[in-house]
Amino acid sequence: MLFPNVEELRLKYKEIIERSDFQKEFEQLLKDYVGRPTPLYFAKRLSEEYNCKIYLKREDLCHTGAHKINNTIGQILIAKHLGKNRIIAETGAGQHGVATATVCALMGLSCVVYMGAVDIERQAPNVARMKMLGADVRAVHSGSKTLKDATNEAIRDWINNPTETHYVIGSVVGPHPYPDMVSKFQSVISKEIRNQLVEKEGKESPDYVVACVGGGSNAAGVFYHFLDDQKVKIIAVEAAGKGINTGKSAATTALGKVGIIHGSKTLLMQTKDGQITEPHSISAGLDYPGIGPLHAHLYKSKRGQFFSATDDEAMEWGLKLTRMEGIIPAIESSHALSFLKKDTFSKNNVLVFSLSGRGDKDLATYMEYFD
Ligand SMILES: *Cc1c(COP(=O)(O)O)cnc(C)c1O
Repeated sequence: MLFPNVEELRLKYKEIIERSDFQKEFEQLLKDYVGRPTPLYFAKRLSEEYNCKIYLKREDLCHTGAHKINNTIGQILIAKHLGKNRIIAETGAGQHGVATATVCALMGLSCVVYMGAVDIERQAPNVARMKMLGADVRAVHSGSKTLKDATNEAIRDWINNPTETHYVIGSVVGPHPYPDMVSKFQSVISKEIRNQLVEKEGKESPDYVVACVGGGSNAAGVFYHFLDDQKVKIIAVEAAGKGINTGKSAATTALGKVGIIHGSKTLLMQTKDGQITEPHSISAGLDYPGIGPLHAHLYKSKRGQFFSATDDEAMEWGLKLTRMEGIIPAIESSHALSFLKKDTFSKNNVLVFSLSGRGDKDLATYMEYFD
């Protein structure tokens, strides 16, 4: 039923993205509205402790607090070029919902955000922000009441409203062209990293780029301009939840098999019969049973190395970054930092970590955990 919508997008997205008026508006908004380029921050105390050079790409400093807005601005500009006046989105941690509601307010478009009832509970500050911005936040009570279920509901909405509506997917998932389109919008992150490393290290490439993977959009952005640079090690960190083999995990590459979800063929956590396994992660943004097809390919081709971090590890790393650098990270981003203990490094190794978002939305979860 959605084939005509996806086909319309597939036929037009590249041409729209390449138009000079599109690029001018996109770049201007990234600069003056989002606050790009985001800093590449040298984490001095952390670097001393781990005896290597650790840089944090500060997507947490983007307007609305995470990398998500790079993509929502791009997609909503595309929607305007396609003549759509109603925007729908799904959200897990609420960051994508907030970013979408923000850009809809900016452009005067109506906005509906689907969110699992469990996530509405654990990400209350973001729910309040979306409402303040004028979005209609709809609670989803099916399945595990998290991201996958919100996505199902958004897809149902699009089926019922196929002409006026654009569905802004928040990660590198869904049918083509979404994975490619979202990667392109997020690729600004690695473009900036290359320029910033020249300034700081006298070279464009680090030894490692590291990011957490939910669907994989911050990771795609951080990896993009290094994909063909074989010297750069590409590190993805998934959420192991309570442990990979506990039945309460979201470590897709460790547990998944090839399957089809939300319009793409990719790695997917599923039962023998092909029923989707309910994922679990303490971080709402990583609580998804699949990964984008780009990352499935990086895994299969071994171009990327995949690790996972448990809920406990993520919480410890969140506290560690807070106490050592004065930066409270999103719990999602804390997963990536755990890589520092999963390998050994030498003094001259340059590691760039994606600090995908800030931890304000997670304060209640942190406080409860450390109580
Ligand atoms: C949404 C989110 C993620 C996970 O989504 P990706 O598409 O994998 O990037 C990670 N970190 C933050 C802060 C998020 O808001």
